[in-house]
Amino acid sequence: MAETHVLLCAIAPHLKDALEQHRRVSGQSLSQILEQALSQYLNVGEETLFQTSTISALVEGVYRGDLTIGELKQRGNFGLGTFDDLDGEMVVLEGEVYQLRSDGTVAMVPETVKTPFATVTVWNQDVLHVCHDALNYDGLQAHLKSLLPSDNLFYAIRIEGTFPLIKTRTVSRQTAATRLIDAAAQAQICRFEQIQGTLVGFWVPLYMQMVNIPGFHFHFLSHDRSCGGHLLDCLTGNITIAFDETPYTQIALPDTDAFRGVDLTKDTRHELEAAEQDR
Ligand SMILES: [Zn+2]
Repeated sequence: MAETHVLLCAIAPHLKDALEQHRRVSGQSLSQILEQALSQYLNVGEETLFQTSTISALVEGVYRGDLTIGELKQRGNFGLGTFDDLDGEMVVLEGEVYQLRSDGTVAMVPETVKTPFATVTVWNQDVLHVCHDALNYDGLQAHLKSLLPSDNLFYAIRIEGTFPLIKTRTVSRQTAATRLIDAAAQAQICRFEQIQGTLVGFWVPLYMQMVNIPGFHFHFLSHDRSCGGHLLDCLTGNITIAFDETPYTQIALPDTDAFRGVDLTKDTRHELEAAEQDR
């Protein structure tokens, strides 16, 4: 059960009448109606996956967005992405935004920094599993597939525990025009052994493949918040796996010349696959 707060506020008589009528007709409690109304008005629905831009624009090298980290934090407290100029991998965990840099360091990010691509949700755990099997990333994905209630909905996934091995990649700031596949090919590869930490990620249905990264996508952040990156491979120890099903999605497209002008008619699925996976 999520933490709740009691609000005491004054509203006009006509709003109170409308609220009462809605309560009678819908059968919902006042709390349910107000929570839904505020979530919609403030764009912070727990059941909504929010993303800025599209993965195909990132593949095409649109590395500058118009959404600030401060604005992103208003849309969710859990997620991943990258930063303007592809300056590292992003992890959003418990409301903090971490920048995993290619030199192996982790920084907290000023709220004015912008992101060209990020996906977040308000974390609201639906299911928790415990797993003691030693699984590599292929095995972990197969295990996750067996746990997911459906392939056709979005899931935020949080995996916490010990990992005998984590292999990550971290992209570095791009100073010239590149495609994502070339930037990823130059990315820093790191191996961490016997490490505690969190995998922050999503399951995205295949039908979204030009919009977001289809399948599983995880970023790792160590328990001491000192290192991490885009997950390429792993070996799991004792872990807990938590899901949050998010049946709604909301996409904010960048109001920039680069996004307006880029050709997004090409099929970039193979390039994306090559950029995101271990080779
Ligand atoms: Zn990634």
